[in-house]
Amino acid sequence: MSLTVLMNAGPWLSVPPPGYGGIENVIATLVPELRRLGVRVVLASVQSSTLPVDEKVSVFADGQFASLQRPYNQVCGIAQAHLAGVVRELHARDDIDLVHDHVEAVGLATLAAMGPSGPPTLHTLHWDLAKHPDLYGSLDGGDRVRVNGVSASQLARAPLALREHSVGHVHLSTPLAVDADRRQRPDKGEHLLILGRINPGKGQDVGARLAQRVGFPLVLAGPVGPYHRPADLAAAGDEARQNPDVRFFLDEVAPHVDGDLVRWVGTVAGQERDDLLASARASLFPLRWEEPGGTAVVESLALGTPVVATARGCLPELIEHGRTGLLTADEEELADLVLAADLLDADECRRVAAQRFTPAVMAQRYVELYERVRELASAP
Ligand code: UDP
Repeated sequence: MSLTVLMNAGPWLSVPPPGYGGIENVIATLVPELRRLGVRVVLASVQSSTLPVDEKVSVFADGQFASLQRPYNQVCGIAQAHLAGVVRELHARDDIDLVHDHVEAVGLATLAAMGPSGPPTLHTLHWDLAKHPDLYGSLDGGDRVRVNGVSASQLARAPLALREHSVGHVHLSTPLAVDADRRQRPDKGEHLLILGRINPGKGQDVGARLAQRVGFPLVLAGPVGPYHRPADLAAAGDEARQNPDVRFFLDEVAPHVDGDLVRWVGTVAGQERDDLLASARASLFPLRWEEPGGTAVVESLALGTPVVATARGCLPELIEHGRTGLLTADEEELADLVLAADLLDADECRRVAAQRFTPAVMAQRYVELYERVRELASAP
């Protein structure tokens, strides 16, 4: 296939990311598969990115994540100007067929502003858009810009202006879905796991109360605001309370964290994270928000751990109730489901993940969307 895509990963983190980095992880998962399908990839990212690509364009040497607070506008402005220059030049030379953009404040704004003279563009939405209606004002006039969601439910909740530009959704995938069969599997343990940022939307407080009710150990893994380790949070003192996730943790979750039945282990990564997930009796998602993409849900299935969750956001799309997990609309029912989850089959979870959530499936679907976006751009 002769298709060249400019993949815009933005200026914030290198690809693959050093630790935290959802969007950069998606790009690092997608690009090798696209290249296997014969797509040429030009990566617009920071110079320190190590992902193998066909060509790289960079404006900053390193990720500007620390500037997300200040001087955010300055970094965006520099990155926008650079991207506009690169896109104009490559597009004028016919060197790219399409831009696949992931960074609304830099890429989308820039590409939409190019109007009809810009290249065909697909922008992937990564957020819960009902919560961020103001992010996308910049789409006006960008007729060659199309968007895709990471789940059908995320798109259904998006503002109308975005839905009008949509070409569909592509579920998130994980390399673990390919790897799982080759890995050594840790034995199943007794614990339940909630893997994710500690945040009211993810419902760790509900999970902690539930664990105490059913008497199962619960491990909470993930950062609390900017704090990745319990010791860092303890050392930060009162100032840490300025962060709403810290306040949520200290007020609603920590009273249940007894170090015995309910533990907060901080952020886990690599093999430690995978083992914790693979050995859990179930992954718990007692959600209070509409989960847009659910990477941790897909990772859980890939490692053979069934999911017990409130049926919010993308969960009903990802989980087959009674096969790979148990879902309920009623938070009160979660405890019963946790008890029943032991009956679900770990191999079945892995099998489903290996069919539905592989990087190859994700790349194939993106290639279809690229074709669609190009067709729409060339229509009179
Ligand atoms: N994650 C991790 N270590 C942790 C907590 C989370 O590596 O301690 C990863 C998790 O495996 C997943 C990502 O962070 O890949 C979270 O993505 P998800 O879509 O589940 O949630 P988000 O935080 O983007 O809402």
